Amino acid sequence: MEQKIFLKESDIPKQWYNLAADLPSPMLPPLGPDGKPIGPEMLAPVFPMNLIEQEVSTQRWIDIPEEILDILYRWRPAPLRRAVNLEKYLKTPAKIYYKDESTSPPGSHKPNTAVPQAWYNKQFGIKRLTTETGAGQWGSALAFACKLLGLECKVFMVRISFDQKPFRKFMMQVWGANCVASPSNETNAGRKILAESPDTPGSLGMAISEAVEAAVSDKSGKTRYSLGSVLNHVMLHQTIIGLEAKKQLAMVGIKKPDVVIGCAGGGSNFAGLSFPFVADKINGANIKIVAVEPTACPTLTRAPFAYDFGDTACTTPLLAMYTLGHAFVPQPIHAGGLRYHGMAPLVCQGVVEGLIEAKSLNQTKCYESALLWAHTEGFICAPETSHAVAAAIDEAVKAREEGKEKTILFNYSGHGLMDLVGYNKFIEGQLSDYELPQEELEKFTSCLRDLPQAKPQKTGKW
Ligand SMILES: *Cc1c(COP(=O)(O)O)cnc(C)c1O
Repeated sequence: MEQKIFLKESDIPKQWYNLAADLPSPMLPPLGPDGKPIGPEMLAPVFPMNLIEQEVSTQRWIDIPEEILDILYRWRPAPLRRAVNLEKYLKTPAKIYYKDESTSPPGSHKPNTAVPQAWYNKQFGIKRLTTETGAGQWGSALAFACKLLGLECKVFMVRISFDQKPFRKFMMQVWGANCVASPSNETNAGRKILAESPDTPGSLGMAISEAVEAAVSDKSGKTRYSLGSVLNHVMLHQTIIGLEAKKQLAMVGIKKPDVVIGCAGGGSNFAGLSFPFVADKINGANIKIVAVEPTACPTLTRAPFAYDFGDTACTTPLLAMYTLGHAFVPQPIHAGGLRYHGMAPLVCQGVVEGLIEAKSLNQTKCYESALLWAHTEGFICAPETSHAVAAAIDEAVKAREEGKEKTILFNYSGHGLMDLVGYNKFIEGQLSDYELPQEELEKFTSCLRDLPQAKPQKTGKW
């Protein structure tokens, strides 16, 4: 029984897969401040044109440049592993496979897009990238990529994490990035928020406003902004995960998985593993595809589908997505990541169409699953990843109850070695469950009424 399935370097996928080419119903276009669809040129102050082309592309396969592959080879192809010890513990007839994205230098899937983004910016003549980061995984991934490609990197890190989780900030410093707490005094957006609420813990939406402003206000024109999730080109870059997984399952004689699972914050690691399988499902395959989110930030499971901004200061284009409202501030009691108010429009369209199912889980259940994982498989997973682990366990238990020999595949998006404070709090009994109350949800989403309405389109086939 093979527990680790490796691809040869020469078998690494040479193209990314673009789900936009195969969606059964078209996506709603991003809108500008006037409520009209935006053209690529409107994004030009924020992103380089080569990435904007990918953002709007409906070409099915997009070549991965050789120079990007040369960097990805440092840790890719990533192993596909089988959780045989967890299977034994659960006495399940199911096979549980997981794609191990924790083996990249920063420890998550995020470098799969950080490296191409830094490379395309460099090609375009850009010298400096700005970004935001929550707990610090994205900031550390972009710092790593910028160092390898010789770009400067500026990171606005959500204040509460900056203070409480210093280790990823230290990683960014090791890779030469400049990391400041957000809201900061360096931008108009930051100064305005600080004047109104000096003690704010910050949020991803606020940090995005600062990072975009810092990029577009550089008079030299050599700075651009970089986003670690949500956008179409980020989903595209992450599909290398699912494309590798397909080849690896074939190596152990599995034609298709029965269940594919990923945790979802902005949607990128979920999309990366699942989109190549969503394509198979569109073509008739019977696969259950599940995105898992926390009950504290229930974007896909409870939020309305609407046009909304990506940031608090309302500077980004309006995206059609499930959203908790751009002013959403997640509860600090929730330890894990996955706290963004919106969700990748491509993932949302998959949910609208019924190709993708969404479910939400409480954090104590996720930490219990993470401990069971550490006690059986031995690895310590990221708190975000624990949502996928918990959902995989649920599916394996269900397979046992039904007496079915299913293949379950999930994305092991990152390790938790920088997140031990959360584990410590759980073990000390300091974490509780939190379900976003309906009144809170309605309060945060009330702003959406004043924005253009989004009518979800679907074929009704799934
Ligand atoms: C950032 C992150 C996530 C959530 O982001 P997505 O874009 O939804 O993938 C999940 N897991 C890990 C380990 C992360 O670093």
